[in-house]
Formats: sequence, structure tokens, C-alpha cells
Amino acid sequence: MRSERKHIAVVLQNVKLPFIFEEAEALGLELTFFYNSEDPAPGGLPGVIKCVPIPIFSDASAAFQIMKAEHEQRRFDGIVTLSEPSLNFVAHVAQSLGLRFLSPETVENCRDKRSIRRTLDSNGLNTPGYIYHDGTRELDLGSLSFPLVVKPTNGFSSQGIIRVDDRDSLLEAVKNVQDINERELSRIARDKPGIIIEEFIDGPEYVAETLSINGAVFVLSIGDKGDCKGPYFEEGIYIAPARIGDQQRQRISQEVIAAVKAMGITDGPAHTELRVNADGKPYVIETAPRVGGQGISHYIVKETTGVNLLKLVFLNALGELRESDLPNPVVPSKTAGNYIIPVRGSGVFQKIDCERNILDDASVNRVMQFFERGKLVRPYPHFSGYPGFILTSHDNHQQCEDFYKALDENLVIEYD
Ligand code: ADP
Ligand code: CA
Ligand code: CA
Ligand code: CA
Ligand code: CA
Repeated sequence: MRSERKHIAVVLQNVKLPFIFEEAEALGLELTFFYNSEDPAPGGLPGVIKCVPIPIFSDASAAFQIMKAEHEQRRFDGIVTLSEPSLNFVAHVAQSLGLRFLSPETVENCRDKRSIRRTLDSNGLNTPGYIYHDGTRELDLGSLSFPLVVKPTNGFSSQGIIRVDDRDSLLEAVKNVQDINERELSRIARDKPGIIIEEFIDGPEYVAETLSINGAVFVLSIGDKGDCKGPYFEEGIYIAPARIGDQQRQRISQEVIAAVKAMGITDGPAHTELRVNADGKPYVIETAPRVGGQGISHYIVKETTGVNLLKLVFLNALGELRESDLPNPVVPSKTAGNYIIPVRGSGVFQKIDCERNILDDASVNRVMQFFERGKLVRPYPHFSGYPGFILTSHDNHQQCEDFYKALDENLVIEYD
């Protein structure tokens, strides 16, 4: 008997962030979940009819053949990934199998920080001074002025992102990032070991979640991401809606919409990070063509506005998304946040301790711990993963901030 249900391929997912599975089940979709063959076999995931291991990073063409065979057995109606390092692969698979996704070129352009800078700059968007350094020639800073940020062109999760205030620390940081490119990013950023050096935008950071429908870009949420001054940029808090006035919101929205369009994200979700300088001028740092945080952005959007972002993402994958699926305008009625448990140290991870009842607070919706006892954790700018997330919702921004301060004071991360 042929199933009437739509069948979607999901490629890589941290299974401790189950929104994509939960929403698929609620929508009556059937997922085939392609997981990294280096990870343990998952089980018991809602909405998933089959789990298939693929050697996505060690042998992409074998991984593709496996997916093709599954597709021939039972056709996929769509393909989705929330995983940054899988985007390129998924774009190629989609193109080969005739499924809807952004083109490999568009995805590649968003993955590469040099292309992002070039594209935004040539489209008249606010762009910090920057240079590309391939390591072969002597470093020429041109007209750049300190402080600067040094980054791997194809990194993610702030791995190898270093702020420097003078030339000596710059040279040291460049060496450090070259090393991270070679040793830690080479599997994912193969053949792309370059470095971007750009001016530090001094001011608060924001993140916007958007959805593109047939070239039109809709801002679903703008959230606060703190104001980290470096020298390293560990992810901290995400609180939405951002505490900003209408005019600032308008300015940020315009810049974000223009950036998403410039990057060629004509359909589907994007997660755009930006900073606003002392003059109130927004600078896009990067735009990722995906739902942020492997589903965290879905939680934030749904909790604050009621809009089911992942449902819209599935509809987009199926080619069924219409503007009328979105309320107009999208208005937040609640505050929600993600408290990213800080690494706070290094060594062999033991446990996260907290004053017992703080996590029993009514504002806490989910607690997710990713570090397991015995994990070796290196300090930033190396990236060992996130210790865990605490997802909350509140009546207002102040309550959320106050609660996160209490978490800061009460969580203890133990290492040996
Ligand atoms: P990744 O892909 O690793 O997330 P990003 O370019 O987004 O790399 O940088 C990570 C973080 O570093 C940003 O979220 C921001 O806090 C900080 N950062 C990066 N570039 C700049 C910049 N030019 N000015 C100020 N902060 C920056
Ligand atoms: Ca990134
Ligand atoms: Ca970030
Ligand atoms: Ca980023
Ligand atoms: Ca609750």
C-alpha cells in the first residue's frame, strides 16, 4: 500500500534538539533521517520512519549514492537540513535529485566569509573594512584600523574568531587561525583555508530570523545577542524580541532584508547576525541559509510570535509555501530566550551543578545538556561544542535578563 504522507529527507541533526522531528510528526510528515555514520545510531525519534547512516564528511560521493538509492526506493518530496556543515552537501544532493533547495552556488556563497563580504559590499550594504589573507604573502593591512577580528573564511560556531588590538597580537592570531584551519576545520572547510581580517564593529549584536518566499523576505524576529567584546566570541544569550525602539528595528530589518536578498536566499529560512555601531548603523556579520541553532530559532519564533517556523520550512521544501501562510505583520506577544550554558573552563568535563530549584522556575521550558562526563573540552577560540541550552519564556525582556543573571550566578561547570 502506498503511503499518502509526504516524505522528507532530513540530513544531520543534533538529536538532542528534537524540534524538527516533533514538528514533522505533528504535521503528519514522514522523515528519513540521514545521520553522520560517525555518530551512534539514533532511535525513537518522532516522525522518523527510517534512520540511515551516511559518511557525509569522509566520503561525500558514497553518502550521495546512499541517499540516491533511498530516493529511488521511496521518493523524497523534499529535503531539509538545519546543520551548517551539511548545507553544501545538501544543496548538491537536492540539485542531483531534482528537489527544491537553494543552489550549491548560493549556499557556497553564504558559507564563505570572503564571498559574504564581497557580495554585501557590492550590493551597497554596510561592510566593515576587510582583507583576505591566504597566508602566502606578507600581511598588508591597507587602510584597516584596529581593533580587528581575525576569522577562518569557512569556520562556524566562533571557532578561530579572535579580536586583536595591535599588530603583535594580530600576527599571533593569524598563526593561531591558520593552525585551526589546518587541524580543526580541514574536514569541513576542505581546500578553503583562508583568513578574513576585518574591522571590529563595536556595539550590540542582534540576530534576525527571516523567511523568503519567492524572492520576498519576511522578518519573523529580531533578538538580542549581547555585546561580547572578545577576544573570543563564545555564544552567550539569545533573547527575543530585542529591546530596541521602532526606528532601530526598522533600520535593522531593512539591512537584513537587503542582505538576505543580496545573498540570493530567495526561498526558505535565513539566520542573520549583525552588530550596530555607536552611530546606530547596522552591519551584517553573516547570513546563514537555514534555521538557526539546529531549531533554536524555531523555538524563539514560535514562542514569541506563534509562527511555526519549521512548518513553513517544510512547506517550502515541498514547494507549497505561500505568502498567505504568514500572518502580516508578524508581531511578538511574549519574550523567549536561549541561555547557552557557558564553557567556563577547560579540561575533562564532569558535570553542571546548579542550585537545584532554579531550573524548576516556571519560565524554563526545556533544559538540554550536550556535554557528557569525560568529554575533553578546550577553551575558545577552539570549539568543543556547547555545554547545553536552557530555553525559557517570560512576560518581558527584563524578567528574562534577570533570570539569566541568576543562572550566571548559580550554574557551576566542573572539570577535572
Ligand atoms: P561564525 O561563522 O564562526 O559564527 P562569525 O563571523 O559569525 O563566525 O563571528 C562570530 C562572532 O564573532 C559574531 O557573532 C560576533 O560576535 C563576532 N564578530 C565577528 N566579526 C565581527 C566584527 N567584524 N565585529 C565585531 N564582532 C564580530
Ligand atoms: Ca557562521
Ligand atoms: Ca553566533
Ligand atoms: Ca556566526
Ligand atoms: Ca514553562
